[in-house]
Amino acid sequence: MKIASYEDQGTRIGVVVGDTVFATGHSDMLDVIRRWPDVREDLLNAPGKGSGTPLSAVKLRAPLARPGKIFAIGLNFADHIEEMNMARPTQQLWFTKAQTSINGPYEPIIIASEGRDVDYEVEMVAVVGKTGRNIPVERAAEYVFGFCVGNDVTERAWQRNSGGQWSLGKSFDTHAPIGPWITTADDVPDPHALSLTCTVNGETRQSSNTRHLIFNVWEQIAHLSKAMTLEPGDLIFTGTPSGVGDALKPPVYLKPDDVVRCEVEGLGHIKGVLVEQSG
Ligand code: ZN
Repeated sequence: MKIASYEDQGTRIGVVVGDTVFATGHSDMLDVIRRWPDVREDLLNAPGKGSGTPLSAVKLRAPLARPGKIFAIGLNFADHIEEMNMARPTQQLWFTKAQTSINGPYEPIIIASEGRDVDYEVEMVAVVGKTGRNIPVERAAEYVFGFCVGNDVTERAWQRNSGGQWSLGKSFDTHAPIGPWITTADDVPDPHALSLTCTVNGETRQSSNTRHLIFNVWEQIAHLSKAMTLEPGDLIFTGTPSGVGDALKPPVYLKPDDVVRCEVEGLGHIKGVLVEQSG
């Protein structure tokens, strides 16, 4: 099932079928995730109940406007490590993105006046569905509610110049576009076999497959939950492949009016135009 958060005389949660979104009685994605066993049937039946609204007639919002935690793993594709001239990690390298960096799937991406060297990173994003701590790898899948597309937008200069701590450079406002909706885990038979691509102005910059993740999603969940409790609605950016602008020779960063489109097979695509911060 594809579950979207959208604007139609207020925020609504809808079920997407083809090009149509069917309203449900719900308005809060986090509430839907938390109460999933009770509301699943309700949402499954939504497309049978009304005529629906064309997706083109509504404004899609970020599926989760304020996730509790946003984790992202660095250097998790072999080809990306090579282009960044880094050693293949033997341990998972984690950072967080601020929840205020969340952005809608088709909203502009802002180049801050203090920022420069803005870069893109297409990623599959896992949405946590249940509370868990010390989750074993073999049970990690039970804790995933679903998946969506994310762009781990990065201020490379801030990433480089923050004493090795990446979180600031990863947390600028609007720098975590996600969406276009959440595809529930039962509709993603193998999250480790999905192609992912990123284009800038129609030119392909990243093209790979989640089968090339160094640490897979289950290992990521097991590791994170050794440190802290995972909760419904937490987001996990699972890593980006090669082709980021920072690794081009010479580096090419995003500039105003560039259009970045990120797609993950079966999960849809998100697309944003770069704009300079005004005022
Ligand atoms: Zn990333």
